[in-house]
Amino acid sequence: MNNNFKFCPICAGRNIKLINNRRWECPDCNFLLYNNTATAVGLIITNDSGQVLLEVRAKEPKINFLDVPGGFVEFDETPENTCIRECNEELGVDITSLKYLCSFPNTYEYKNFEYKTCDLFFIATIADNSKFKLQADEVSNIKWCDLKNHQDLEKLPLAFNSAYRALDFYLKNK
Ligand SMILES: [Zn+2]
Repeated sequence: MNNNFKFCPICAGRNIKLINNRRWECPDCNFLLYNNTATAVGLIITNDSGQVLLEVRAKEPKINFLDVPGGFVEFDETPENTCIRECNEELGVDITSLKYLCSFPNTYEYKNFEYKTCDLFFIATIADNSKFKLQADEVSNIKWCDLKNHQDLEKLPLAFNSAYRALDFYLKNK
């Protein structure tokens, strides 16, 4: 996986280069574009039985692997609002409480491009009688998974390392 461009998007010159995987520079027109970290959120939704709600991913990357609900923070949006919006979009339910937990970096490969992300994790609750309406192109199913200890965590086929580290942090600090 590399994020090289064949042409400069401004002058169409062929000399544009990715420097240290951090910025693209075109020596012909001085175009400069930073390969910035993208902000994303992940929701650790728990119930009274010590279970955590995980989604079965409906698309690549990592189709059929488990992930926490969440997604990318949009322009001019707070991460808290991303939590509320993504929970509504992906699961069709409202959050009843939200508390910041921790953050971890992640690498997300999508359509032959590698994105570096900063994932912010929140503990969230939803109403007991919540009726789920899954976003079919993102989520093929949901599962309430046991998460009482580290052995439970190791059994989960998680899509992303940052979610693993966040759930590990959650177990150690709850
Ligand atoms: Zn150029």
